[in-house]
Amino acid sequence: MEVRVRFAPSPTGPLHIGGVRTALYNYLFARQNGGKMLLRIEDTDQTRYVKGAEEYIIKSLQWCGIEIDEGIPVGGPYGPYRQSDRKAIYKEYAEQLVSNGYAYYAFDTAEELDEMRRKMKVQGVPNPQYNSISRQYMKNSLSLSEDEVQKRMEAGESYVIRIKMPRNEEVKINDIIRKWVVVNSAQLDDKVLFKSDGMPTYHLANVVDDYLMKITHVIRGEEWLPSTPLHVLLYKYLGWEESMPQFAHLPLLLRPDGNGKLSKRDGDMMGFPVYPMEWKDPKTGDVSSGYESVGFLDTSFINMLSFLGWHPSDNKEIFSMDELIQSFSLERVSKAGAKFDYEKAKWFNQQHILQLEEGVLLENLKTQIQGQAHAYNDNDLLKICSLLKERIQFISELSNEASYFFKSPENYPEKMLRKKCSAEGLAFLAKINESVSLMSDFSGNALHTLFNSTMEAEGLKMGQVMPLLRMALSGTMSGPPVFDIADVLGKESVQERLKLALERFPTYA
Ligand code: GLU
Repeated sequence: MEVRVRFAPSPTGPLHIGGVRTALYNYLFARQNGGKMLLRIEDTDQTRYVKGAEEYIIKSLQWCGIEIDEGIPVGGPYGPYRQSDRKAIYKEYAEQLVSNGYAYYAFDTAEELDEMRRKMKVQGVPNPQYNSISRQYMKNSLSLSEDEVQKRMEAGESYVIRIKMPRNEEVKINDIIRKWVVVNSAQLDDKVLFKSDGMPTYHLANVVDDYLMKITHVIRGEEWLPSTPLHVLLYKYLGWEESMPQFAHLPLLLRPDGNGKLSKRDGDMMGFPVYPMEWKDPKTGDVSSGYESVGFLDTSFINMLSFLGWHPSDNKEIFSMDELIQSFSLERVSKAGAKFDYEKAKWFNQQHILQLEEGVLLENLKTQIQGQAHAYNDNDLLKICSLLKERIQFISELSNEASYFFKSPENYPEKMLRKKCSAEGLAFLAKINESVSLMSDFSGNALHTLFNSTMEAEGLKMGQVMPLLRMALSGTMSGPPVFDIADVLGKESVQERLKLALERFPTYA
């Protein structure tokens, strides 16, 4: 049987990274099994519809490299794939449930429902529900006479269709990740399946569509686990038990400290995005950053997401999408919530930068330094990229990290300079400067040899002179090997910088 999975977001706002992870796990599972990945838009709740959200979802999945085989926006044989376009399909199933005694019409107004809850609270029921007990006292086709129901319908009174939840029945779910989950129907309420506005609720539409679209595996967030017993009963009552999909409920994404679900507010407070791409709220105009806009590579973003709930059987951490498709398994997804770790996310980005072709870094560096005068050719710039790539977490940091290649230092780390500026040290630098000016074949290696022999001849130690040379050439104490820097700078720049240092350093001595 062909594996068919779906990602079924509601367009109620931008996709949260937890949603992208759900899409990713579905995609990996589909690809691994040679199956199909569907995108279905669940927009039955028109009051929560947000303009632009659907486009945002599509764009984000594209950026991540999660390809949709069927559904929105590509189409397919089981369409339409947007629930608001399938409106006509659901009523018949709701009616079928009523005729078979599994659901009923309910006429209660909002005030009557409030009143019921209020009364039950007074009687000491902490969590009042419309269920097998309370339904007897409400206005529905189980409590009212047939005539009365008929009359109300004919008068055009608005009604909903509710499931008739059995009073005491064990509902068993065999979840791939959680194994057996057993819930007694006494815990469940008579959920609305069909609303008075002619639209199905999420529950009915979700089950009907999964059935009609021949979905074999429902892989979704843990927040849907409490709804699953209802879904299982719907499959049974609609006579679809045989084709019920297998369920896999993914662990929650938790805040970095493990205290509760990761929210947009946590991201704002701790300074990291919770959306894949930048999102502009259509109502407020507020702009929220996304992983793409702050400079994450698509490959590192999905690698990072893949580890939020799953890990392979060995210690390998860096995965491409193809490697994830090979290695992923639902059986290795944990039940426990996955703590989000932004530092780790940045580490993944750093690792993926190292895997990039250097040509990509070169093009980025060239864009970043556009308009800046310098004497480097592509080969030099490529060397700069390869020297600095280990030192950046975002490609956008490249030009900043490389700044000393383009400009002679203006200041130096004062404390360090004061510590290292001895008379011998300065004399050493002056000697190096002299010898460099006589060199006919300058290179980083040649400077290295010269440096070592001069140091030996003068009886000086590395720690006395190396920091001076480094500061003279780059104005900083951190960076790639000094002679590699010198090699890229070339003879003229090295001389110019030594000269500047020899003028400036004595004031620190
Ligand atoms: N529309 C639901 C959501 O927004 C889908 C849940 C499911 O996958 O069944 O996540």
